[in-house]
Amino acid sequence: MYTRKSWGTVVAPAIVVIPEYIEKVCHSIQRQVGKNEFSILLKGQWSSEGFIVHNEFFIPLQEVTISEVNFKEDLYPLVRKGWNVILHSHPFTTDAVFSTSDENTINKNFDCSILYCQNGFSEASLRFSVDDMLVIVKTKPKIVKDKVEVLLGNKIKVKEIRKYGFLDIKKQGDDDIDIEEFSL
Ligand SMILES: [Zn+2]
Repeated sequence: MYTRKSWGTVVAPAIVVIPEYIEKVCHSIQRQVGKNEFSILLKGQWSSEGFIVHNEFFIPLQEVTISEVNFKEDLYPLVRKGWNVILHSHPFTTDAVFSTSDENTINKNFDCSILYCQNGFSEASLRFSVDDMLVIVKTKPKIVKDKVEVLLGNKIKVKEIRKYGFLDIKKQGDDDIDIEEFSL
């Protein structure tokens, strides 16, 4: 009997959304390696806004030249740990596109690939599995200003302002005390 995996569905534009922080990380690494290439791993997932790249990054051991990156550690265990996005740089140009070798060796092994060049992010690709085929869709990266989401737990409780306290003060004719001050 033929059974098919049950797929969840997300309707999303085929764009790669990258936090501004990651661009700053790339600027910093590029400054330090000069005109040589480099590569980092990132994590990302689909949402209704597109493929969202997270703020974390990982630098695998690598040896780099002006035209290539040779990894000195196995990336496969890292992919299994969730590092499903690969980014590498083409520092020699202002408008980089993936090379044929990038497409055949890097892009098909990751859910998402991002290319960084002198002008920032220039191209990205997304990988889809369709029946027995891998489909690689090229797209443009979009940078978003970093959103910060602090998890408060139950540390800060917002206290309700007691209205009758305000009325009591009014009755005493003291207009200078504001409601926030009183409710503390
Ligand atoms: Zn390349």
